[in-house]
Amino acid sequence: MPPVTDIPVSSASTPSGPSSPEKWRALVASWRAAAEDRTADHAGYLRSAARAADGSLPCHLIANYALAWYAASERVTDPTVHDEIITAFEAAADRLGDPGPCDHAAHPRLGHFEDYLPTAAWLGTPLGRRAYRWRRHEEGGEPLDAWLCPSFLRVRADEALAALRPARAALRS
Ligand SMILES: [Zn+2]
Repeated sequence: MPPVTDIPVSSASTPSGPSSPEKWRALVASWRAAAEDRTADHAGYLRSAARAADGSLPCHLIANYALAWYAASERVTDPTVHDEIITAFEAAADRLGDPGPCDHAAHPRLGHFEDYLPTAAWLGTPLGRRAYRWRRHEEGGEPLDAWLCPSFLRVRADEALAALRPARAALRS
């Protein structure tokens, strides 16, 4: 029986992916820069929607709510991105004002962003809203009114700001 040391070590067992730590770091950096750009883009959409009368505020507020948790994590490190999304949520909160309590029995639960982002997209256009109503007949879910509810949206804006402001302050130090 040959000694164990004679068993050849396969060079094919190296893990796939970038071959050096430098390449991994470059990959992560490029991915991060793209994510920060996207967050800043979406913050701009929300800021515009807060001024517009086209009914696009719910769509962009929900989309930015998803990004807010991402921006508040340590993964977004450019403070100007935080400033943009905070300014956008402040504009949205101002636009919504203090809607007070509403008549809805329930509002949408915003769990994982991948689940509710498609709905956010539907809220942005009349055609999308019709599609949401039609889909709800088939699959259930909260009524469209509950998604568009100013009370619901104002609470979400306040939650996002409560997460983003400390994250922004932490970057200053
Ligand atoms: Zn409501």
